[in-house]
Amino acid sequence: MSQEKSESVKLQSVNSLRTTMDSYFQRLKTATETGNKKIAWCTSVGPAELLYSMGFEVYFPENHGAMLGASKMAEKYIPTAVSHGYSPEICSYLTSDIGAFLQNETPLQKSGFKTVPKPDILVYNTNQCKEVADWFSFYARHYNVPVLGISTPLNINELTTGIIQYVAKQFEELVPKIEKVATQKFDIDKYRETIGLSHDGCVLWRQVLETAKSKPSPINFFDSAIHMGPIVVMRGTQYAIDYYRILLSELQQRINTGVSAVPNEKYRIYWDGMPLWYKLSSMSKLFANLNTCIVASTYCNSWVFDDLDSKNPFESAALAYCKLFIVRSDDEKEKVFEKLLKEFSIDGMIYHESKTCMRNSNTHFGLPVRLNAKTKIPYIEIHGDLNDSRCFSEEQAIIAIETFISQLSSRN
Ligand code: SF4
Repeated sequence: MSQEKSESVKLQSVNSLRTTMDSYFQRLKTATETGNKKIAWCTSVGPAELLYSMGFEVYFPENHGAMLGASKMAEKYIPTAVSHGYSPEICSYLTSDIGAFLQNETPLQKSGFKTVPKPDILVYNTNQCKEVADWFSFYARHYNVPVLGISTPLNINELTTGIIQYVAKQFEELVPKIEKVATQKFDIDKYRETIGLSHDGCVLWRQVLETAKSKPSPINFFDSAIHMGPIVVMRGTQYAIDYYRILLSELQQRINTGVSAVPNEKYRIYWDGMPLWYKLSSMSKLFANLNTCIVASTYCNSWVFDDLDSKNPFESAALAYCKLFIVRSDDEKEKVFEKLLKEFSIDGMIYHESKTCMRNSNTHFGLPVRLNAKTKIPYIEIHGDLNDSRCFSEEQAIIAIETFISQLSSRN
């Protein structure tokens, strides 16, 4: 391995990303200050299209949770949520977000917000986890506003018509309840248009991620974890589409000119599980030094809702949001992994077992062993957490990762 220190090559699009995200928060701030629009809070894989189509500005507490993690503030806030009865064992997005709220602090204060945007309504989907219902209920009680939810079956093996109809009906049943709060009536054409915009944004996001099939890859997981912001919070708007066109064009240009995200890419890794938000930068440097690019991840792939179809908006939304990786059985997850490992020419897998997010950790029920028996792709498990750095031993993780990459080099 090269002894020279190398770093990931920065994407120029980061400037446009900043502008896109700043304008999103500016729209939320304007809505907060002027009341020109109502504000809905939505889960990251919740029915954002419905809310955007009905004229809301949409705020995503999980995005806020990730900001708290990335700014290394989570440990300051988690104990406050714990002292209000929330276990330190549960989702550290939830505990850091509620803790920050109880301390009346938010990273958004740097952008001129006094507090997080006050919701007029909160809408979740339990497709990702049950925790979001409890999380949103805290704020519904505090603000005395309605909280609505879609209840999605978990561990879905076969995605039957029955399941899709059951969930599609719940999407439809939200409409009259949201109308009671919205300033505009539901308009099916507007919803179709928003679903179409969401579809197009997701296709562009998929194309962005798929550029990593190139050898060497023009993008790595640490870039994607940052550049996924617009698909999470602006899915269903033209803003996301405009941004991903810029990013995709830069990545295609990188492929044409042979620029790689990691200089001297030798090893290609799949990352399963949540990012370590408080260690993105140091992990990015670690992998770059090991000439290793994390080219694909479960996490970033989770916002590819390309089954959305404006001709069939409710059913296709139900399909897209039930097909999501996190909702599926281990058998279905294994099939997805097998496909991605081949498509992205993966040399090894790293499973991050996140202490406070069981739903995004796939190491508990033998999946890594079964997948390895089928694919012969080596793997390691590292233990940590998405936001709570107290659950992560950096030294141990570095030793495990360096040893793993060195074993990969001896296989080649
Ligand atoms: S999926 Fe995990 S990280 Fe996301 S809200 Fe649920 S428990 Fe938290």
